[in-house]
Amino acid sequence: MRRALSESDIAAAVQQLSDGILQKNPDSDFVLVGLRSRGDEVAERILAQLTAQGLNVEMGVLDISLYRDDLAHLSSNPKLQGSDIPFTVDGAKIILVDDVLFTGRTVRSAIDALMDYGRPSKIELAVLIDRGHRELPFAPDYVGITLDTQRMDYVDVKLKGSDGLDSVEVTEN
Ligand code: 5GP
Ligand code: MG
Repeated sequence: MRRALSESDIAAAVQQLSDGILQKNPDSDFVLVGLRSRGDEVAERILAQLTAQGLNVEMGVLDISLYRDDLAHLSSNPKLQGSDIPFTVDGAKIILVDDVLFTGRTVRSAIDALMDYGRPSKIELAVLIDRGHRELPFAPDYVGITLDTQRMDYVDVKLKGSDGLDSVEVTEN
């Protein structure tokens, strides 16, 4: 059985994220960091909303694929490929953005990776979809859509930039 979210559901979720971020950060004294892949596209959409409201916010991209703690065989020499952090991390208030939050291991890795750049003053977390089943003690500060899933389910997220269309389907195993 599959449950689906439409393009307009996704647009509403992005709106909810940018509204929440604006509400909590009226001074726009933060930067966005999107996690490749698709987290960067979500971050770009949030950025577009914030820009439309007159805010001037910087954005970076992190590729943390080799920081995942279940890739232990690679961790002795992790190389960041495809990351682009065009601002000073030291002292910055950073909002991490990802498409799906599941176990939390990717977020942990992203924080590790950021700390290699410097010492942020604060890190917050925004996710388009929280599907539950955390294995580490992370709670998102901003959530677009909360999906009730089984651990074995897969949330198939498609976004226009990567996939040509906006849709979310939950495949129940
Ligand atoms: P976690 O590290 O929290 O287990 O998983 C989060 C990362 O893996 C995210 O970057 C997300 O893109 C990907 N991910 C985990 N579970 C799913 C899922 O069900 N669907 C999709 N599309 N991505 C997932
Ligand atoms: Mg992702």
